[in-house]
Amino acid sequence: MRRALIFVAIALLGGAGVLAGPRVVAAARAGTPRARRAWVTAYRLTHPNAEPQNWLSTGHDYSDTWFSPLKAIDDRNVGGLGLAWHDDLDTHRGQEATPVVVDGVMYTTSAWSKVQAFNAVTGRRLWQFDPKVPGRIAIYACCDVVNRGVAVWMGRLYLATLDGRLIALDARTGRPVWSVLTVDPRRPYTVTGAPLAVAGRIIIGNAGAEYGVRGYVSAYDAATGKLLWRFYTVPGDPAKGFESAVLARAAKTWPPGWWRSGGGATVWNTFSYDPDLGLLYFGTGNIQPWGRMPSGAPADGLLSASIVAVHVATGQYAWHFQTTPGDRWDYDSTQTLTLATLTIDGRPRKVIMQAAKNGYFYVLDRATGRLLAARNFVPVNWSRGIDPQTGRPEVKPEAFYDVTGQVWVGTPGAAGGHNWQPMSFSPVTGLVYIPAQEVSFPYLLDRAFEPQALATNMGIDQAATSLPPDPKIRAQALAGLKGYLSAWDPVAEREVWRAPLAGPWNGGVLSTAGNLVFEGNAAGSFVAYRASDGKRLWSFAAETGIIAAPMTFAVAGKQYVTVLAGWGGIFPLAAGELSFKSGRQVNRSRVLTFALGGTDRLPAAPPEPTSVVPPPAVRVDPALAAQGAQEYARRCGSCHGDGAVSGGLVPDLRYSAALRSEEFWNAVVDGGAFESEGMVSFKSVLSAAQQAAVRAYLIERAQQSYAASAH
Ligand code: CA
Repeated sequence: MRRALIFVAIALLGGAGVLAGPRVVAAARAGTPRARRAWVTAYRLTHPNAEPQNWLSTGHDYSDTWFSPLKAIDDRNVGGLGLAWHDDLDTHRGQEATPVVVDGVMYTTSAWSKVQAFNAVTGRRLWQFDPKVPGRIAIYACCDVVNRGVAVWMGRLYLATLDGRLIALDARTGRPVWSVLTVDPRRPYTVTGAPLAVAGRIIIGNAGAEYGVRGYVSAYDAATGKLLWRFYTVPGDPAKGFESAVLARAAKTWPPGWWRSGGGATVWNTFSYDPDLGLLYFGTGNIQPWGRMPSGAPADGLLSASIVAVHVATGQYAWHFQTTPGDRWDYDSTQTLTLATLTIDGRPRKVIMQAAKNGYFYVLDRATGRLLAARNFVPVNWSRGIDPQTGRPEVKPEAFYDVTGQVWVGTPGAAGGHNWQPMSFSPVTGLVYIPAQEVSFPYLLDRAFEPQALATNMGIDQAATSLPPDPKIRAQALAGLKGYLSAWDPVAEREVWRAPLAGPWNGGVLSTAGNLVFEGNAAGSFVAYRASDGKRLWSFAAETGIIAAPMTFAVAGKQYVTVLAGWGGIFPLAAGELSFKSGRQVNRSRVLTFALGGTDRLPAAPPEPTSVVPPPAVRVDPALAAQGAQEYARRCGSCHGDGAVSGGLVPDLRYSAALRSEEFWNAVVDGGAFESEGMVSFKSVLSAAQQAAVRAYLIERAQQSYAASAH
């Protein structure tokens, strides 16, 4: 027996010429590196279709296709899909992660940057890691305390936490190996995106352009956590010199003193990578604050709202394409950047594609950044079209709300025609499946804007544009909201089919070689469509809204589909009553895994509370309430909802016990009693009188709502 093992060890070592001692025998018992937990190498990441049973990175592959060649589940048998297992997560906020599966083990993140490992077949938990993100960080997370997933590299997982740490975890145990801080903790940075592993480097960006930060991307050594390079997307203080030639050029496109606010242009979402070109691709966010750029060229504010390519080895600039020059509408260009080979004008072109927030679907040559096509995939009212030569939009004069000083209702609005929810590209159908939406937004410049702590710093007047009590205006606003899954032909530049949904803010998308497209939605269903024509083939009641993108994998030849359920993100947090159009949801966060013949069941959802709490019967001073409305819009509304109507994720303050107890109110708002859940003390920025004004506004809103409801 012993002799046989030694023989195997020597065979494994090949011509290494090492004498086979006990250590080598032990190595042979441990098996080849491939058999080690999560041993994901450069070869594996660049050949994902050689192992279709696995899903090795959040977007499935470096091309960010969210497409799997698996086809055991297909358009003929998908009706037999059932729940195989579920796992209740302990973080009841938005779930945006796509899990990875490596050799039968599933790794996923959940809200508050936690990580879980599961036996992918049984759902048995192997471990959970909680980085213990301080609750106070939530105040700087514009769009929920979400996380979009891990990267895997050579036996380790890489997690970026909401408070800006990059942590390497041992995939077998979930124990941290190293941890580095990737952001300046004195600035309102957060991180929600998944890192990308490229040949021994871990790539990560950050968020915070709604508050006041300078965007950048960093590359760290996967083994040690050492910073290898950093690429800034906004030029910094000219007195300190520019980090690169491209930033020196970019500085000419900003007005004087831009760098004091940070500039924004954060790289907060996803990455893709072309191994042949050695290029890393990412999108950048909005200019911060909004509406402060002179209108027209050359005030483009580079490299904001752009698609950018850098050399992954060095972080050196390769090219950029700015989708929205001089952005003042929050048209982040951070959506999925999908690489594909398309036949355009009779010849194969290596392209990069984006369904951008600004409503246009872009196809670029990914070696040069040259525009090949740009057409709107949703209605657009801010621009007349894109110049095919320069790639610049022809912006309509009325869209410059900062110049006109008038309210301007933009389509798309700040939520975008497509947001972070991943789109999917199927090389089988040649179609891109876009979680598309129509959400208009009223833009009005805040002329008295000054950046402040513990507040959003967008520079717009959200109190004046809050949804008014007038039922006609409310009905009009609700009618304009739409959400649909759009199957887009990127060559013909047209929609091939569309699956309408209840409202906006639905899930990311998975497509498979089984002629299937999977998407969860805000109304609480997880649905399978036929990829070729959009026929709805199967659905599952998830008991909560779904925003994450699904993924699929196989173990021992059996295919599974997994999605994270859990309503959340910016829309239910900030949109208030408008978010009810999509489906009135509570958050029930779970990992759901499906297989043909699956027989697991979810426990019955508890009944929805139906009683309406009567508001305090006190007379509210309208002037005090009006003052409170201003503070509410600037400091509270981005989480507790427009017009003090919660979208179901955080407490609806109209029904808060704090409206009946001043002592309780003070303990929370002044004393920070709920800091661990993200509700910090506002003592440093709101005087006692201002706090009382916000409370008066909430009581007024509670009384208005009670009077309007049929109780
Ligand atoms: Ca933004």
